[in-house]
Amino acid sequence: MYKSTISIEYVYLSPKLNLLFMKNRVEQLLKDLEGLNLPGKLERINSWSDLIVFSTSFGKEDQVITHALANSKNQIGIFTLDTGRLFEETYEVFHRTINKYKIKIDTFYPDQNSVQKLVTEKGPYSFYDSVENRKECCFVRKIEPLKRAIKGKEIWITGLRKEQSENRADMKMVEWDEANQIIKVHPLFDWTEKQVDDFNDANNVPVNALHKKGFPSIGCSPCTRAVEAGEDFRAGRWWWEASKREELHCRKFSRRINPRTERMNCRPIHPTEK
Ligand code: SF4
Repeated sequence: MYKSTISIEYVYLSPKLNLLFMKNRVEQLLKDLEGLNLPGKLERINSWSDLIVFSTSFGKEDQVITHALANSKNQIGIFTLDTGRLFEETYEVFHRTINKYKIKIDTFYPDQNSVQKLVTEKGPYSFYDSVENRKECCFVRKIEPLKRAIKGKEIWITGLRKEQSENRADMKMVEWDEANQIIKVHPLFDWTEKQVDDFNDANNVPVNALHKKGFPSIGCSPCTRAVEAGEDFRAGRWWWEASKREELHCRKFSRRINPRTERMNCRPIHPTEK
């Protein structure tokens, strides 16, 4: 097995050769991880490279991996992206996590000048106005900091489960991420939500309080809502973009408070609509 110990930035391969090399590594790593439990997978991944990071947004799946890493001898760094628009509950579980495990989580922020320009020119809720504006905000607050966080790394570990993936039919536990030029590994690929909950309960893992309020996936506060029973768990993200009809529905009910979640059912009234 070839273990990377130098930054891949300094190894020049033609793009075609690099792609072949990395895809081959993806296949090998996938085979190598088959049949292992979570600690076994993390240990094996750790033996493959010195250029590994795990990203957490403090969702319950990420917390499973943080717990496993904190209780291992693996030298895998953990990072998070603070977009500046996170829920209070997310900061709370962040704080509890570092206190419980005595670990350091590298926190990446958006570029100050880019955020200042965005908000100055378009205001704090520009993402509600158009898909382009939403993508612009996500680029400034998430994608650009993410690129900094994974720069020079070879393997990026995530807490994604197969059930949560938009392309679950094509998804594999180990993938080549062409856009970011990095190998992505999802050690919880085959886990069910119940397995995640059972693991966290059994190990007294700090869990984001929003999960119990109907938030299966937790992102930025203005862009994430609770989902109703039977709704796809992804329905809570950027829900106002789903369709014109759903948009109208949301507007109609936008002042209604969900009694279960104690939060607004749909998006807040946009400041310009008042
Ligand atoms: S999720 Fe919303 S607030 Fe967060 S970066 Fe994307 S558009 Fe901006």
